[in-house]
Amino acid sequence: MSRFWSSTVHTLRPYTPGEQCNDPGWIKLNTNESPLGPSESVLAALRDAVSPRLKLYPDPDAAALRAVIARHHGVEPSQVFVGNGSDEVLAHAFLALLKHPLPLLMPDIGYNFYASYCALFGIERVAVPLSDAFALDVAAYQRPSGGIVFANPNAPTGRALPLSDIASLLDANPASAVVVDEAYVDFGADTAIPLVHRHPNLLVVQTLSKSRGLAGLRVGFAIGHADLISGLERVKNSFNAYPLGSLAIAGAIAAMQDTAHLERVRTVTATRRAVLAAGLEALGFDVLPSLANFVFARHRRHAGAPLVAALRERRILVRRFAQPRIEDHLRITVGDEAQIQALLAALAEIT
Ligand SMILES: *Cc1c(COP(=O)(O)O)cnc(C)c1O
Repeated sequence: MSRFWSSTVHTLRPYTPGEQCNDPGWIKLNTNESPLGPSESVLAALRDAVSPRLKLYPDPDAAALRAVIARHHGVEPSQVFVGNGSDEVLAHAFLALLKHPLPLLMPDIGYNFYASYCALFGIERVAVPLSDAFALDVAAYQRPSGGIVFANPNAPTGRALPLSDIASLLDANPASAVVVDEAYVDFGADTAIPLVHRHPNLLVVQTLSKSRGLAGLRVGFAIGHADLISGLERVKNSFNAYPLGSLAIAGAIAAMQDTAHLERVRTVTATRRAVLAAGLEALGFDVLPSLANFVFARHRRHAGAPLVAALRERRILVRRFAQPRIEDHLRITVGDEAQIQALLAALAEIT
C-alpha cells in the first residue's frame, strides 16, 4: 500500500490469473491453453510480418482483420470490434455498455474477471445463483438490470446454454445490454452471433486464445449491432488507439482464415475430453457435462485443496477456485494424450 495510491486503487479487486510456469518439466492443465497450438499458416504470417515495416504504427482500426472476422461470421465490418485479448474487449464492454444505475447481473459462479471490472469501473453487481447442477437459470434474469454478462459455455463449469435459452433471455430483457462471453464456444456449443441480427442489445465476445491456440498473441473480438460497436470504439479511442500491433493483426488474419485447423482442434478436443471425463469418473469423480476445452470435476471422497497440492507435488498444475459451492472442484484443461494419461495415473495414486 502506498499513500500515493488513488482512492480507486484501494477499492480494486485485481484478477488472479492461473499460474504461468514455463518449466518444461511441468504438466500445465490450469489455464486452458491449446495443446495443438497455432496453425502453421499463422506462424508463416507472423514470420512474414517481422520486417522493417514494424517502424510504422499499425492500422488503429485493424480494418483488414475486422473484414476477415466479419466475413467469417456473416456480419458487416461495422459490427466487429477487435482488442488486445478478449479480456480487454470485455473491459471496454463493461465501461461502454454495462455501467448503469441499476446493477449488472451475472452468475454467482462464472469468470472472476467480471468482478474485477466492476470494482475498476464502479459498477454495482448482483450474483444470480446457478442451479444446483450449475445450470444458468434464464428465468432468474427476468428483472430490471443495468445489463447482463455471462460466459457460454460457462467458466469454470463448462456447461453451455442452448441458443433458444439465450434468445428468450434477450426477448425478456430488451432494455439491457447482454454480453455473452464465448471464449470456449468453438469446442462444441452454438455461437449466439446469428442472434445479433434480431437483437440490438446482444454483444458476443470471442477470443483467439483458446481454440485458435494463440493465447500469447492477445487477440479478441466482439460482434454486435453497429451502435454497440461504436460505443466500444469510443472507449477504446479514449484509452489506447493501437491495441493490436502489426504482428497480432497479421497472425489473427491468418488464424481466422485457417478453418481446417479449427476443425481439427474441435474434433481432437472432443475426443480427448471424453477420454479425460471417463478416466476421472472411473477414479471416483463427478464430472459436469462440458462443451469447453476443460472439465470441472469433484471427487466423491477427497477435498479439492489436498488434491491440487498432491498433483502439484507431481508437477501437474490444475485450477481450483477457493469460493463457495466450488471449493472442492478441479478445473482441468483437456491436454494432449500423454498429459491426460499422466494426470489420470497421478490421480490413481493419490485417490
Ligand atoms: C480465457 C478467457 C477469456 C480471456 O481470454 P483472452 O486471452 O483475454 O482473450 C475470457 N473469458 C473467459 C471465460 C476465459 O476463460
